[in-house]
Amino acid sequence: MANAPINPTDVGTPPVEQPVNKVTIGDVSDRREPPAEIDAVIEVEDVSVYYGAYEAVRGVNLQIGYNEITALIGPSGCGKSTVLRCFNRMNDLVVGARVKGRITYHGNDLYHADIDPIEVRRRIGMVFQKPNPFPKSIYDNIAYGPRVNGLKTKNMDDLVEQALTRAALWDEVKDKLKESALALSGGQQQRLCIARTIAVQPEVILMDEPCSALDPIATARIEDLMHELARDFTIIIVTHNMQQAARVSDRTAFFTAEVDDKGERHGRLVEFDRTSQIFTNPNDKRTEDYITGRFG
Ligand code: ADP
Repeated sequence: MANAPINPTDVGTPPVEQPVNKVTIGDVSDRREPPAEIDAVIEVEDVSVYYGAYEAVRGVNLQIGYNEITALIGPSGCGKSTVLRCFNRMNDLVVGARVKGRITYHGNDLYHADIDPIEVRRRIGMVFQKPNPFPKSIYDNIAYGPRVNGLKTKNMDDLVEQALTRAALWDEVKDKLKESALALSGGQQQRLCIARTIAVQPEVILMDEPCSALDPIATARIEDLMHELARDFTIIIVTHNMQQAARVSDRTAFFTAEVDDKGERHGRLVEFDRTSQIFTNPNDKRTEDYITGRFG
């Protein structure tokens, strides 16, 4: 540029477009890039969810890939938890909640009259925001589910050990299995809840903000654990932490709340894609505004 002719009308250097503040994708090197075609375990077709007359979420279409981690992100109140709870019929327990549209699990309508919601919740387990161990021993927390579900096991001790090992907790608790679960740290309690979920041999694990009550070290352990678990389980996580979604998930669904002409807010799915795509090159301006921190 040093030899460029001077233009008398030049009023200075044109503004340089600032690079958008992309969210840093975790360790890209060991990320699995999911296939373009989704091998769907759960399919959501034009689903709307109502609480009484209020349509909280409108017209969602989504596919959950087998042994993938799918993150649901978006600002508070956009319906992430509502959608998550549809996957194991937890909304059945909310008075006035109603699901319109179709959700299939291995091609079967999850809301068909013949489907037993208890069996759905065994196959599609849930880990909540706040660790919620039973006020029982560590051992009994794990053994409880298999017992009440009548799971045939020759050796409960082995099952307890396996579940705790898979939840990366065994080494820390193997010498105090009869002690109260409530004496564990928050992070340990959350891994115990994951072990309790695994113990009934689900296929899908739903996680609703599983780290929001945990410190960064406990959070990192859960995130590592999620990567391990994704070898054997399909995981769907709601998180308000975008870095977490970027670090742990294979695909991301971005939701937002839109206000209609009557002034009512409805949660909408804006964009669903591979996580790398969502966080580096989103298709929708609303997604870009959200992940770059301009909104939400
Ligand atoms: P998010 O998880 O994205 O924060 P939610 O799914 O919790 O959003 O909520 C979506 C909308 O549904 C919000 O307007 C919220 O107030 C409403 N909502 C959630 N749960 C209930 C409920 N049990 N009864 C009535 N409204 C609810």
